[in-house]
Amino acid sequence: MLLANYHVHSDYCDGKNTLEEMVQAGIAAGLTSLGLSSHFPLPFTNNWTMKQEKLENYLDDIKNLKEKYASQIELYRGMEIDFFIDRQDISDLAKAVLPRLDYTIMSIHTLGKTTGDDVSYIDESQRDFARGIEKYYQGDNQAFIYDYYRGIKNMVKTFEPDILGHIDLIKKYNQNNCFFDENDNWYQDTVRSCLDGIAETKTRMEINTGANMRVPGVGRYPSDWMISEMKKRHIPITIGGDSHCVEGIVYGYNQAEVYLEECGYHEYWILKKGRWEAQSLGV
Ligand SMILES: [Zn+2]
Ligand SMILES: [Zn+2]
Repeated sequence: MLLANYHVHSDYCDGKNTLEEMVQAGIAAGLTSLGLSSHFPLPFTNNWTMKQEKLENYLDDIKNLKEKYASQIELYRGMEIDFFIDRQDISDLAKAVLPRLDYTIMSIHTLGKTTGDDVSYIDESQRDFARGIEKYYQGDNQAFIYDYYRGIKNMVKTFEPDILGHIDLIKKYNQNNCFFDENDNWYQDTVRSCLDGIAETKTRMEINTGANMRVPGVGRYPSDWMISEMKKRHIPITIGGDSHCVEGIVYGYNQAEVYLEECGYHEYWILKKGRWEAQSLGV
């Protein structure tokens, strides 16, 4: 069974449960290593990330939980940090906080301009996603997708985060291929080029099992065919539930483990006593 989860939200951001409830759920599920990863505050108004003034409380809370549950589970202090395509950068505040974290996930959730308060998101709703592509790419889905994967590659090459979050989040609202077809050559070539870049870094790619729980039918991030491509490039992986409630703490784990082995993966990476170590799959 899979023993870790490094993608865990709480009521510090858009999760439903407290940090402690998520920790208890992790223990109950038999996990031995758990990373807490609230959405890092953004430099513009929004309703889904942590508020900047809560940052110190968050860091303190995790420190206390680490001590309280030390005999039951290893806890790690992380955050899911946003990279912005328009700036090709993360926020200054994120850069300042990075050294205080045990690990980082970096992800892209926004599209277009990230100044002002009318920012468009990839994963908020299908309508908002379409509106963003219309506004910033004149409705050219392909142009946006090129920009998105260029952004992912640049983010990983520039910052080498411990974990790259949900590489293909852009499929969240792609039901019936209404934005793009993953089987198209141009799409697969774009992803392959992005994976080539990632393979040159130390960053691990996250197998994100939580997608179906939020929007049924989405599957996992990354899509199945990409996992074989990652394996060919020897890209190391971690596991994360993108858990927003206690019920999601190990959502989709068994199926993910079976599929990873089918793709030829024999190990995933977990934090043990503060260091990344390879852990065998299927034991
Ligand atoms: Zn995310
Ligand atoms: Zn997340």
